[in-house]
Amino acid sequence: MSIAVNAAPKTSLDWHQWAERLHLEGRHFIDGQFVHAKGSGVFPTVNPANQQILTQVARGQSADVDTAVQAARVAFQKGAWSRMAPRARMAVMLRWAELIEKHSDEFALLDTLDMGKPISEMLQVDIPLGLLCLRFTAECIDKLSGRVGATPSHVLSYVLHQPLGVVACIVPWNYPFLMTLWKIAPALAAGNSVVLKPAEQAPLSAALLARLFVEAGGPPGVFNVVQGLGEECGKALALHMDVDKIAFTGSGEVGKLMQIYAGQSNMKKVTTECGGKSPHVVMADVKDLDLAATWAAMGVFGNQGEVCCAGSRLIVERGIEKEFVEALRRKAHALHQPGDPLDPLTQMGPLVTREHQQRVLGYIDIARKEGAQCELGGDVPQGMEAGAYVSPTIFSQVNNSMRVAQEEIFGPVACVMVADDFDDALRIANNSRFGLAAGIWTRDVDKALRFARDVECGMVYVNSYMDGDMQMPFGGWKESGNGRDKCMEAIVSYTQSKGVWITL
Ligand code: NAD
Repeated sequence: MSIAVNAAPKTSLDWHQWAERLHLEGRHFIDGQFVHAKGSGVFPTVNPANQQILTQVARGQSADVDTAVQAARVAFQKGAWSRMAPRARMAVMLRWAELIEKHSDEFALLDTLDMGKPISEMLQVDIPLGLLCLRFTAECIDKLSGRVGATPSHVLSYVLHQPLGVVACIVPWNYPFLMTLWKIAPALAAGNSVVLKPAEQAPLSAALLARLFVEAGGPPGVFNVVQGLGEECGKALALHMDVDKIAFTGSGEVGKLMQIYAGQSNMKKVTTECGGKSPHVVMADVKDLDLAATWAAMGVFGNQGEVCCAGSRLIVERGIEKEFVEALRRKAHALHQPGDPLDPLTQMGPLVTREHQQRVLGYIDIARKEGAQCELGGDVPQGMEAGAYVSPTIFSQVNNSMRVAQEEIFGPVACVMVADDFDDALRIANNSRFGLAAGIWTRDVDKALRFARDVECGMVYVNSYMDGDMQMPFGGWKESGNGRDKCMEAIVSYTQSKGVWITL
C-alpha cells in the first residue's frame, strides 16, 4: 500500500533538473495541431509546491470550442476512425499506450508540477492505472457485440451499438492523466470523436496525450483538446448543439449544471462522476486493527485527500475508538508526511491551489467550532508555508450531523465517528447525500454481506479499501453521479443502440 521508493527518472538528470527543461505546452490541440486561442487569451498554471507560474495556457472561448467540435464532427463523418475495423482501431490504441509508456516520466512530471501529487505516486499509481485502462479498453473493442432478437421466422431483428458522434469529456484536476484516460479511452474505443476540456488547475498532460494519439496513427480531428476556464470554455462545450454526450467528472455542483446545460441545448446524453463523503466502517471484531488503520489512512490521506472516494467518514464501533485513533495517527505520521513532490521519497504533496488550501483550512476551523476534537494536524506543516500544504488531520468526536461529516472537504481531513453496533454503523453510513464508495472491516461474514447488500453506494470494499480492477465498475449512487468508468459498461455508455426489424 505504501509507495515503494523506486522513482528515479530514466535520464541522468534528477527530477528537479528535468523539470527545468521540460517542454510545457499550453495551446489547444485541434484537428491534429497545436493552436493558440482565437482571442489570444491565456491564463497561468501555477506549481502549488512553490506558487511559481509554470506557463501560460490558452483561454478558450466559444469560438475555440466551435472549431474543435467542428473538427471532431468532420472527422467522425469521414469515418477514418468511427468506421475503422475494430482490430485496426485496437492496434492504434495499443500503439498509443506504448508511446505513453515511453513518455511516462514526462507525464509524471507534468501532473506533479501542475497539481502537486508526489512523483512516486504518479509513477506507481496514476501512470500504470491509466495505461491499464487504455489497454483494457482497447482489448474490449472487438468483444462488444449487439444481439439478435427471438422473433417469428419471417422476421430478422437485431440490435446494433453505434458510436454517438462527438463526445465532450470534462475532467477534474485531482488525477489529470488518469481521469482523462478513464473518459477518453472508452469514448474513443467506441468510435467517437472527442473534445476534451481539462481542468484549468492541471491542464498540461492533456496536450502530450493528444499529440501521442496522432503519432500512434489516430486520425487528426478525432481527439481534440480545448483549454480554458470551466464557466467559459467548459460551459460553451456543454451547451454546444453539435455535441452528443457530456462525460463529466468533477464536483456535484458542476455535475448538476451539466444536466441543466443538456436540457438547455440539444438534450445530449450526460454521465456524471461526482463527489463523495464515503463511510469506512471498522467493527470491533476486526481481525487486524493495525491493517485497517493503514488502509483507513491511505483511504483518507492518499493523494492529499483529494480523492472522490476518500473514506473520510471513519465509523468505528464503540469500545475500539481510542485504539483506532491512535493507530490512525501512527500511520498518518509514518506514511503521509508532507514534502517536496519532486522528491521520490515524498508521499504527500501540497494541495492543488492556494485557494483550495484555504477552503480545506476553513473546514478545519468549522470542525473545531462544531465541537470536534483535533487529534492530529489541523494546520499548515511548519516550514512549508510557501506551498499549498495542509497537514494530515484527524478529528474525533465527530457527529454525523456536523457539516464536516456531511460535506466533501477534498483534503487530508479524517472525521472519526462512533457507532453503537452494526445497525447503527449502517444507519450512519447511509445518512449522506453522497453514495460513491464504502468499506467495512469485520470478521463476521453476516455483517460483511449485509453491509454490501444494504449500503447505498456504487462501490463496496470488505476488509480493504479503494481496491479493485478494470472489470469493477467505478461510479456512484445518489449525488455521487450516474456514470460508470473503467468497466465494459463504460464503453457501452459511449454508444447508442439501434434496433433493426427486417421482414423477410
Ligand atoms: P469542478 O466541478 O470544479 O470542475 C470539473 C471540471 O468542470 C473542470 O474541467 C472545470 O473546468 C469544469 N467546469 C467548472 N465549472 C464549469 C461550468 N460552469 N461549465 C462547464 N464546465 C465547468 O471539480 P474539480 O474541483 O476539478 O474536481 C474535484 C471534484 O471532482 C470533487 O468533487 C471530486 O469528488 C470529483 N471527482 C469525482 C470523481 C469520480 O469518479 N466520481 C473522480 C475525481 C474527482
